[in-house]
Amino acid sequence: VSPLALAKLLRRLHGSRNRQSDKLRKDRPRRKSLTAADRAEVLRKADGRCHLCGGKVEGTAWDADHVFAHSSGGAHSIGNYLPAHKLCNSYRWHYGPEEFRLILKLGVWLKTQIEKGTVVGIAAGERFTAYEKDRVGRQRPKRPVGSRR
Ligand SMILES: [Zn+2]
Repeated sequence: VSPLALAKLLRRLHGSRNRQSDKLRKDRPRRKSLTAADRAEVLRKADGRCHLCGGKVEGTAWDADHVFAHSSGGAHSIGNYLPAHKLCNSYRWHYGPEEFRLILKLGVWLKTQIEKGTVVGIAAGERFTAYEKDRVGRQRPKRPVGSRR
């Protein structure tokens, strides 16, 4: 696959994801929230681990993630949910399987470039750390619990 073909494939997947979610947004049922018992069942079937990274999920700060994205028509049934860290879930967003596998492959490849200190890796590492610093700086500071504005 040529670099141009890869770019074209990524744009095609992005475009079809947007069209799919626009189409489904109109007639899908409203998202319902899970009961505490439902959430306990979702956590139990994954042995208390995030289905995206495999790490232990602690406390209540986790999402019941749709395995087949809700925005792509995924069902609201317990069988379609698995636990995910809020961070992992926010990065998975509503990518379809093909697009998500490509993102993983690209991420693993780029991580290796950064580790090896290749020209691409050094440039990407510099851009990424600058992007992260900017992103974190844009997040609203958290007020201590119970404080007033
Ligand atoms: Zn995770």
